[in-house]
Amino acid sequence: NKRVIFRDFVTGFPKESDMHVTSGTIKLKVPEGSNAVLLKNLYLSCDPSMRGRMSSFTEGRYIGSYIPGLPINGYGVAKVLDSGHPNFKKGDLVWGRIDWEEYSLNPAPEALFKIQHTDVPLSYYTGILGMPGMTAYAGFYEICSPKKGENVFISAASGAVGQLVGQFAKLLGCYVVGSAGSKDKVDLLKEKFGFDEAFNYNEEPDLAAVLKRYFPEGIDIYFENVGGKMLDAVLLNMRVHCRIAACGMISQYNLEKHAGVHNLANVILRQARIEGFLAPSYFHKHPQLLELVLPYIREGKITYVEDITEGIESGPSALVGLFRGRNFGKQVVVVARE
Ligand code: NDP
Repeated sequence: NKRVIFRDFVTGFPKESDMHVTSGTIKLKVPEGSNAVLLKNLYLSCDPSMRGRMSSFTEGRYIGSYIPGLPINGYGVAKVLDSGHPNFKKGDLVWGRIDWEEYSLNPAPEALFKIQHTDVPLSYYTGILGMPGMTAYAGFYEICSPKKGENVFISAASGAVGQLVGQFAKLLGCYVVGSAGSKDKVDLLKEKFGFDEAFNYNEEPDLAAVLKRYFPEGIDIYFENVGGKMLDAVLLNMRVHCRIAACGMISQYNLEKHAGVHNLANVILRQARIEGFLAPSYFHKHPQLLELVLPYIREGKITYVEDITEGIESGPSALVGLFRGRNFGKQVVVVARE
């Protein structure tokens, strides 16, 4: 049983060597009388929030740090090989939190979601049909209260969450602009996801001026994924009653001290609203996400781009790549395909 073991707490940018892969054995049977399920793990999701769990610092976090010497964990898709739990049987497919290992004995399967729809790629349950999908759904529809024709800006727009928010906004009839870190990602936004405009923030020394150019009348909705300088530039370009969904601030996650925000006072003048949210608080709405998104996927009205690496050994490199923008779409690690 190969496992990705967390070495020690991290400061600054995480490195591949902060984790290592070990090999061991596991009994492929649930112990007699136990409520556990035995999982064969198929797809692992790489999520920026996993960085927070690599710090020893836990204050203000809703989930604990990884424990040095034990496997890291995150969202993923798995198959039930054996079950002592009445709600699960051999062959069931599930998504939820799983350890980064080939096989897991999961003592609390109640927290897992059963997968009912398998006519779409199973890996989608790490992305569009899983936690990032819920993030885009809750952040856009619930937090931003979007209306047709509004001006929407999305940062980290080609990633797991951003690509979906952009497509939701286009389907609603909004004007949509995204930022990303390379020319290839900018092309993807415009050509594959139908964004009206997109720009490479690494090539723009004056972000406030770029936003002014794309939003001469101001931004109605900002889906915030990066924080830092981009947030400050948005604060200078808000339309009255602008809504900012504070989803993530990845530009700050590896800094010892977070950058200050300079233009916050504009929130008053523009009568704007900034609201943070956490996807798991909306998981009870997962059926609504499926109801909305599955038909769009089947009809080809929404596409979802994944960056898939093969083998559990590729996990550490794929995970740390998120913080260098190496992923092209949703980063997924395949442990096994069935
Ligand atoms: P992505 O798939 O977008 O991957 C992360 C991307 O962030 C990278 O590809 C890179 O894209 C960009 N990035 C990395 N470092 C920086 C930086 N210093 N400045 C600007 N951009 C950077 O990740 P997700 O879609 O999964 O997550 C997007 C955001 O949403 C994150 O902030 C994450 O923490 C947050 N999130 C919040 C949730 C919640 O419940 N609130 C749930 C899920 C995610 P590029 O090359 O374009 O720079």
